[in-house]
Amino acid sequence: MDTVANDLVVAIDYSLRVDGDVIDSSEGQEPLEYLQGHQNIIPGLEKEMLGMKIGESKEVEVQPKEGYGENDPEAFVEIPKNQFPEHIPVEIGTELQVENEQGQPVYARIDAIENNIVTLNFNHPLAGKKLHFNVKVLAIREANAEELTHGHVHSGHHDH
Ligand code: ZN
Repeated sequence: MDTVANDLVVAIDYSLRVDGDVIDSSEGQEPLEYLQGHQNIIPGLEKEMLGMKIGESKEVEVQPKEGYGENDPEAFVEIPKNQFPEHIPVEIGTELQVENEQGQPVYARIDAIENNIVTLNFNHPLAGKKLHFNVKVLAIREANAEELTHGHVHSGHHDH
């Protein structure tokens, strides 16, 4: 078992660069373990992982549509400032969690404040960005039955 394939647990070291800056990395941390083929990681990266061998490194460029999506010009909502709960600081850049129509939590950030109208941007902060990953496969193991049922890895930090 030395080749990445679906339903296997893969441990990787990685770094993610966006616009030339490293914004995420496993350096100084435990390697990232994920379950191949279960959308645990960005689709454009998961696709490129297939067939990689233990010890192999790769540079992967992921286009926005296979990363965090394109910037959606419809994903902006204007709300009167006086409708904000008092505990939320109404400042540009503030990130908040709100519920969508299905009652699911979604993240937004404040993009503009003008004439007491606040513009919320529901795009992911990395929407529209090209992602540059550097990955190295450290280990591969078989997933257990529970992990396959849940569709994710059960490491020491995860219990339910
Ligand atoms: Zn689980």
